[in-house]
Amino acid sequence: MKNKPEGNSLLFLMGFIKPYSHIVLLTIFALCLAAGTMLLLGFAFSNLVDRNLGMTSDTSLQQAMLILFAVVILLSFASFARSYLSSWLGERVSSDIKSKLFGHLLNLSPEFYQQQSIGGLQSQLHSDTQLIQVLLGGSASTGLRSVIQFLGSMCLLFVINLKLASVACVLMSLTLLPLLIFGRRFRQTARIAQEAEGKAAGYSNESLTAVLTLQAYGRQSASLEKFKVLTQDALHKSMKRIFAQSCLSTAVIFLVFVAVCGLFWYGLQQIGGDLTTGMLVSFIFYAILAAGSINSLSQVYGDWQRAMAASARLKGLLDIESNLHTSPTPIRLPQQKIGQIAFHKIDFAYPDQDLVLFDFNLSIKRGETIALVGPSGAGKSTVFNLLMRFYDPCKGQVLLDNVDIKELELSTLREVIGWVPQDPTIFRDTVYENIRLSKPDATDQMVEAAARSAYAYDFIQKLPQGFNTFLGTEGVGLSSGQKQRIAIARAILKDPAILLLDEATNALDSESEFQVQKAIDHLMKDRTTIIVAHRLSTVINANRIVVIDLGKIVAVGSHTTLMRQSSIYKRFVELQFDHEGMSYSYG
Ligand code: ATP
Repeated sequence: MKNKPEGNSLLFLMGFIKPYSHIVLLTIFALCLAAGTMLLLGFAFSNLVDRNLGMTSDTSLQQAMLILFAVVILLSFASFARSYLSSWLGERVSSDIKSKLFGHLLNLSPEFYQQQSIGGLQSQLHSDTQLIQVLLGGSASTGLRSVIQFLGSMCLLFVINLKLASVACVLMSLTLLPLLIFGRRFRQTARIAQEAEGKAAGYSNESLTAVLTLQAYGRQSASLEKFKVLTQDALHKSMKRIFAQSCLSTAVIFLVFVAVCGLFWYGLQQIGGDLTTGMLVSFIFYAILAAGSINSLSQVYGDWQRAMAASARLKGLLDIESNLHTSPTPIRLPQQKIGQIAFHKIDFAYPDQDLVLFDFNLSIKRGETIALVGPSGAGKSTVFNLLMRFYDPCKGQVLLDNVDIKELELSTLREVIGWVPQDPTIFRDTVYENIRLSKPDATDQMVEAAARSAYAYDFIQKLPQGFNTFLGTEGVGLSSGQKQRIAIARAILKDPAILLLDEATNALDSESEFQVQKAIDHLMKDRTTIIVAHRLSTVINANRIVVIDLGKIVAVGSHTTLMRQSSIYKRFVELQFDHEGMSYSYG
């Protein structure tokens, strides 16, 4: 992904800040107050020193002390307000960006996820928004305060003594040199370091997601080595960034000291005439303030660069559009009697791959049960992917009740489909919520009834907290068969017009399969069902069996017809019988 120009990144950020303009205004007011009172401090010091040196009365000294005290209290209050408001803004904006990005990612097509590392995306979601939070939560207001303090101090320097201020200007401008020299280099190193950190985070995330596979193949050391290489690379690049940042700060600090010492030396020689000792004290105070502001600007500059690079990346992600376009005026499906499906002259290839379906034609009547059989890789699951519009065909149309599914809202299409995948996902949540995924407004009783129908009720009751047991990585684990029954319960609860079963019973033992098959038979009534099955027992009762080989339909018919007409089907059946208990998996 390319980095966009800084202006775009800033506009992107402004879009998220706009709703909080009132907080921005309050923050600016607080920081102006903080900078203003800081500038007042110089006069308060000057006042104190001159009254002390002038040996005026104790009351007058006390008055000067009181003024100083009042200025300090105002400064503390304004600093608190600035810090609190800007932190609030930083947290708020970064969490808004996170939510927007997460919502956007949830709707991107599988094609996008094939090209991206999930770990890299997670790193972007969290670390890039963190960089924006750092900028808005502190650096930006510090930077603005520093600019005000710098300009204010410079003006006051001229008010105090014109000659001394002119010398200060020359010396101060020297302190800007490092920003000009190292700034560009710093921006590059910051971007490179962030990309390397993202790569390492992505790899660790991917490895931990597949940790069992790595352990099973004894690849932990190899994986660790690769991770070390990536982290070393990230470290190396971060060190370059830190070096550039340190050079910048050190050069600024050094030049600031040189400038202040030079000014002090020159100022001491000017005392007398127009310049009192108190004025010199306040002059040096403002000179330090101006120089300190430049130094803090050099640090803010680093945060700014990193946040701009992060914004560019986040904007790039948000600009990615799903390649599944829907019609601007989507067609509504009738409320009832949905379920007539047609694949019309479909050619399909996964991105950058050869065709996997060729001239694929299949019409399915409403309420019909179709079984897809064929060798592994024939294209059976791909048929499901097209019907659910995870991908669009290269040629041809998928029709639902005679409407091209591209004319429907994606949500409308998927609402009428219940899908039981080969390897169902269990979320880190209770059994109730895991089943309720398909129908968020279902009551506990409805969830329990669905679990009963899916023959999942008994095993769920035996879990430590029954339906309230926490599942997933931090909770109780489930067997593959139990996961499948949870997925079937989801489909039962959803009560969809179209049911897609992708080897929904392949992980069950014969007894559970028998039970679940009964549930599925019940579930299939009055709805269009397409089953991808490797077991004869699931296939045999279908209205029609469709044999697919190498992306083409090679035979269609009932079990008896196909036994006579299709050698591929006959072989499928024979292999099942050869294998004990008909449990042979054809795929
Ligand atoms: P199985 O019975 O093993 O599940 P299948 O008949 O369901 O196989 P599909 O999953 O539809 O086969 O795959 C058909 C072809 O498409 C295979 O060659 C596979 O490698 C390829 N394929 C599947 N998914 C993708 C993908 N996301 N990206 C690229 N190619 C894919």
